[in-house]
Amino acid sequence: MKPVDRAIITHGHADHARAGHDKVLATTQTIEIMKRRYGENCANHFQAIAFDEPLQIDDVTITFYPAGHILGSAQILIEHKGHRVVATGDYKTIPESTAQQFELVQCETFITEATFGLPVFQHPDPKEEIKKLLQSVEEQPERCHVIGAYALGKTQRVLSLIREAGYDAPIYLHGANIKLCEYYQSEGIELGVLRKALDKVKEEFKGAIVMAPPSALKDRWSRRLPDPVVCYASGWMSVKQRAKQSLVELPLIISDHADWNELTQTIPATGAENIWVTHGREDALVHWCTQQGLNAEPLSIQGREEEANE
Ligand SMILES: [Zn+2]
Ligand SMILES: [Zn+2]
Repeated sequence: MKPVDRAIITHGHADHARAGHDKVLATTQTIEIMKRRYGENCANHFQAIAFDEPLQIDDVTITFYPAGHILGSAQILIEHKGHRVVATGDYKTIPESTAQQFELVQCETFITEATFGLPVFQHPDPKEEIKKLLQSVEEQPERCHVIGAYALGKTQRVLSLIREAGYDAPIYLHGANIKLCEYYQSEGIELGVLRKALDKVKEEFKGAIVMAPPSALKDRWSRRLPDPVVCYASGWMSVKQRAKQSLVELPLIISDHADWNELTQTIPATGAENIWVTHGREDALVHWCTQQGLNAEPLSIQGREEEANE
């Protein structure tokens, strides 16, 4: 993905937001997230746009609507001569506390992601996944639980779910997670008492929960933890093979993308006749749409890389 003169950005994940554009149009939270990840000067100009407020650009009207994926994430409605196109970016429709609730937008053309676009992907209730985690913590007080989770979005979602389940002890963070957690907290998202994992000695981690980026689970960093139970929070943990390969003892199936049911409920609900499927497993969803009598085609995005943050 190359830098452009005018970028419209759905959310702060690296496969959607890059540094180096001249002008960026995004929600305030996406802009703040970009600045924290890429530096204050990661674009020459920033224009913040609120949800549900149409903006006229030449003969096109642009409106951002919540996508329910991470804090500040948006779907973008583009209106031109009476035709309405919605580009979802990444989205999920189940309600949660760390992202604005997905809003259904009527349109003629719906560009949907398909990260989990296969019927086998039916994500369990995240509350049940967190229950498994807390039960394991209770049963193994001599061990430390370290949860690998992507630094933006997933980490804060898992923390928030743990707090909602009533766990209120301090939770320890890898250094790479701190800045974005502080930003979420400054936006009013309750994450409870967080501490830097750096400040503790090995013995004190017994019985504790630690959160770290997935890459840290394998490197020197994790050697400071006493007999850790390695957990991994991701939608991909529903694929048993993946959990096994990455030596995860406790997989937590927690996804920030729509699963098959959410995809196939949302698509007809938009009223769209044309469905462009991108960003994942296009074929099965295109086939499903065609069976429903919709015009569907895969949309390949130039320069796209495999997503690592679901
Ligand atoms: Zn994303
Ligand atoms: Zn993505």
